[in-house]
Amino acid sequence: MKRAITRVPVTAAVVRRFVAGETRAELVPVARALLESGRAVSVDFLGEYTTDRGQADAAVAEYLSLIDDLAEADHTVPGAHSDIPRVEVSLKLSALGQSLGQDGPAIAAENLHKLCAKAVERHVWVTVDAEDHSTTADTLEAVRQARAEFPWLAVALQTYLRQAEGNARDLAAAGTRIRLCKGAYQEPGTVAYQRRAEVDASYLRCLAVLMHTAWYPMIASHDPAMIAAALALAAENNRKPGDFEFQMLYGIRDAEQRRLVSEGHALRVYIPYGTQWYGYLMRRLAERPANLAFFLRALTDR
Ligand code: FAD
Repeated sequence: MKRAITRVPVTAAVVRRFVAGETRAELVPVARALLESGRAVSVDFLGEYTTDRGQADAAVAEYLSLIDDLAEADHTVPGAHSDIPRVEVSLKLSALGQSLGQDGPAIAAENLHKLCAKAVERHVWVTVDAEDHSTTADTLEAVRQARAEFPWLAVALQTYLRQAEGNARDLAAAGTRIRLCKGAYQEPGTVAYQRRAEVDASYLRCLAVLMHTAWYPMIASHDPAMIAAALALAAENNRKPGDFEFQMLYGIRDAEQRRLVSEGHALRVYIPYGTQWYGYLMRRLAERPANLAFFLRALTDR
């Protein structure tokens, strides 16, 4: 299927629009161009639910090199080098070994520590992605532990989860940097809101918590309603552009990304790369039919 897709020009173009390439060599110029346009970046080396220790080790090795390459790219781009790092890596604990049986969570936590130690050396940030709900408790615990040494470590929070508002309060109270997103996996009604209106209402409740109390909220949404709410709450809470940031996916709402930057707001682009793009795109489409419309909309939005 993957080979077939890359042979069809239209679908290959779709892949190229959302994925920055299969290798670091392809990724780095894309990241540099975004930095040059005034945007910050968060780069995801694609891969998840690793069932092989060797693969987890290979992912760690790739991330170590990625951190170096992104730091180098950042140095070559002129512009203000503020306290807020312009380059970040996003990672999934399931790619670092979390699903390797009983020892998985400990292996992933050790790998996370290794990458945070490297990131701190290179003035690069790290955010841990949110995966399916069966991993949430382990992921939050790994981030809680790692933050004792790396307090800038961030985690993504999915507002479709019924527990999201409670998590937002606890994480904000602990001073955690949080990426707020709606959530991209197909989850059961027992743990997740199913109606769009409920997910949006949860997003707005969590956003209010973060904008009132949290350190550096990260608003990861393409939704004009969420962006407008974030701007209103920022004004209400006297948050300046350097006190929070917007985040969007690579290839989506590029014009809106540029508009926010031109108005002085911080905006970070989440850029996936790697050979595992098929899973990234297909899983998003298969797991949640709404994502098909999400990608198709992006093709018509200029
Ligand atoms: P939606 O609720 O899908 O759409 C609302 C409105 O936004 C639409 O009506 C439209 O006006 C606008 N819009 C949405 N998409 C488009 C588009 N493609 N083109 C034009 N307009 C559009 N999910 C996870 O589960 N875990 C993660 O760790 C995670 N990390 C993320 C990191 C970033 C930086 C971002 C941006 C998203 C991340 N997601 C993650 C995905 C997220 O959870 C949502 O699935 C995805 O962002 C869609 O939700 P939305 O809020 O953007 O808009």
